[in-house]
Amino acid sequence: MELIVVGAGPGDPELITLKAINALKRADVILYDNLANKILLDYKKDSCELVYVGKTPYQKYNSQEEIHALIKENAQKHEVVVRLKGGDPFVFGRGMEEIIFARGIGMKTSYIPGITSMLAIGLCDIPLTHRGVSEGLWIVTGTKKDGSLSRDIELALQSKTTLVIYMGMKNLPFIIEAAIKAGKPNTSAALIQNASLPSMKMVKGNLCDLHDLATQHEITHPALIVIGDVTQVMP
Ligand code: SAH
Repeated sequence: MELIVVGAGPGDPELITLKAINALKRADVILYDNLANKILLDYKKDSCELVYVGKTPYQKYNSQEEIHALIKENAQKHEVVVRLKGGDPFVFGRGMEEIIFARGIGMKTSYIPGITSMLAIGLCDIPLTHRGVSEGLWIVTGTKKDGSLSRDIELALQSKTTLVIYMGMKNLPFIIEAAIKAGKPNTSAALIQNASLPSMKMVKGNLCDLHDLATQHEITHPALIVIGDVTQVMP
């Protein structure tokens, strides 16, 4: 009984690791997420079963408990269970929760890192750090468990370092409100949807205009919010 928690990368099927591909080839069953590119499932062996664990944000499909139950159920039937997750499993991916659960039921576990979606924003000519522009990086969720805005967003807005917000589209108006409160409505920012995929879209502007820009350009989930002067390094 083995659980391999595998990062699928941001979307482009070439942005997966060789180690991840080898795990997909070994899998007896693959439990895959909504954000993992389905093309990657072609690496599976013929006998491998596929189980869609369609977690769509803001809609309750499978709860984490249901996913744990699926891991257990499949571990009883199969030797190698692969859990394929978008980006990196340990960046807002709840990968460690699944590893803790699996170890708790006596499974051997391993983790294969993936390229987190944030790294694909470089494809839009936005570096995460840039000499003389940004000395660091905050990575914060835009949707806390209780739906409220993380206080770390307010703190990050005080600094000059880059702020990347995952799962933030629904709370974008509140993020803008926080920026106005912090006296930073004109901070440069960008939105990137479907980073690394052919359908990738990006808009840039002042943070306070980002919601209108998103509506205008129909930018929706899955998207990342990038705040800071790094969005202006390449005009
Ligand atoms: N583990 C994933 C993150 C899962 S949380 C990772 O490492 O990337 C889901 C959030 O990730 C989405 O709300 C969105 O903010 C972001 N995301 C995932 N894939 C994306 C993509 N291709 N383009 C833009 N944002 C993406």
